[in-house]
Amino acid sequence: MPRSLTVLPSLFLGGLILLAGGCATVSHRALAWEAELGPVPERPITPSQLLAEVSLHQILIPDGRFGRRKDLGMRPTHITIHSTQNPTGDAWAHARALQNGKLRGGRRTGYLFWHFTVQQDISIQHLPTQVAGEHADLDGPGNRHSIGIEMAEHRGNNLAETIERTAKLTAYLAYTQGISPRNVVPHYHWPREGYNPPNKNCPHFLLDNGKPGPTWAWFKSRVQSHHRRIVAQAPAA
Ligand SMILES: [Zn+2]
Repeated sequence: MPRSLTVLPSLFLGGLILLAGGCATVSHRALAWEAELGPVPERPITPSQLLAEVSLHQILIPDGRFGRRKDLGMRPTHITIHSTQNPTGDAWAHARALQNGKLRGGRRTGYLFWHFTVQQDISIQHLPTQVAGEHADLDGPGNRHSIGIEMAEHRGNNLAETIERTAKLTAYLAYTQGISPRNVVPHYHWPREGYNPPNKNCPHFLLDNGKPGPTWAWFKSRVQSHHRRIVAQAPAA
């Protein structure tokens, strides 16, 4: 048995079980979310139909202001998944804060900013996908080459619905931007120089013991299932 984690997506509910060093691990969170959501439908879907299911709003950070005073062009190769760890702010609150330059801290621009925030019922875009944000790893490749998606986790927000909406948005972006679903990564993936630990426990509710494990594998399997459904044109009726 290889020491690396081996996903067996066909074995049980699309990757809920991983073999880690020969020891099977089940994600009880993923089992509960899968039961709540049901399986991803196999029905083919066009990119615009999938986008409609995501309920995307655009509230962009003004061009030339805050983190966008010095836009850094980007051709995204990865999609980075985060969670806000904010029990009070919903996606609208994050959009307002970003639009008004309220989130300070990035090393390059002095601001923290990213591309999308998702909650149970809607998604909001804050930044064009061909502009780099600051959400992952200081001056590293996570910031320079990845689209950042934050999942809201304010009180009362349904996490399963938020995760599923995020999986759909991620599949849509991967398809339309030519990014391999293999390059969908948790924030954890990008080490942050000078931090201890360098790899952040983010998005914490999709990691196991602070690392990608069976829960992350389940999320990726939902992304991959939606990605496989996408067809360029609707099949003839
Ligand atoms: Zn993060």
